[in-house]
Amino acid sequence: MSEKNEKRETGKGGEVALRTYRDKRHFGRTAEPSGEHAPRDTDGEATGDEPSFVVQIHDASTMHFDFRLEVDGVLKSWSVPKGPSTDPQDKRLAIPTEDHPLDYRDYEGVIPEGEYGGGTVMVWDRGTYRPTSHDKQHRAVPFAQALEKGHVTFELHGEKLRGQYALTRFHGREEQDASSGGNAKPTWLLVRTGHRSGSGTPDPRRARSARSGRTLRQIAEQG
Ligand code: MN
Repeated sequence: MSEKNEKRETGKGGEVALRTYRDKRHFGRTAEPSGEHAPRDTDGEATGDEPSFVVQIHDASTMHFDFRLEVDGVLKSWSVPKGPSTDPQDKRLAIPTEDHPLDYRDYEGVIPEGEYGGGTVMVWDRGTYRPTSHDKQHRAVPFAQALEKGHVTFELHGEKLRGQYALTRFHGREEQDASSGGNAKPTWLLVRTGHRSGSGTPDPRRARSARSGRTLRQIAEQG
């Protein structure tokens, strides 16, 4: 199979992956993007830019952070209850959630109560990342492939988060117990692997948007 065909297949995979995202939402009621007209850099050669990442604070039924990395035209997503830490000692639980469309990286606002994920969303940090996954022979491994194997390393170039991080899947009880095929929810850990930088974990109530400078409260009031 040529490299180009391989990439095309990945692109199709992205389209399938967004089905779950769309099925969960009513786009007449929420202003979240449907992803229908999202820029989808599926052939991977359009711009040559580094892939993007975004961390959103989501004040839903429980406060959490959503950590998203652009991979093959979609945002691979994890819910991180405590948020990313700049301290390498902190191993942060990261629960995979459905792929989101690329234009979700700009979404900030209020999802109406009663809708999926109802609550306030803030773009807390955004930027690009450089994949740094290597095999034992120190050869670069494609990011999507490393992700499938359950371990990726990357360097974040955000406004707040900067430097090396890793996401690692671990095989917990839930995965072993999952006999219902496809409902398995493996858990990941998000860890800072470089030196500690900054002040550990942000306080969501005091945090300000990288997009608008607003607090959660201001976004909730203004929409
Ligand atoms: Mn969320």
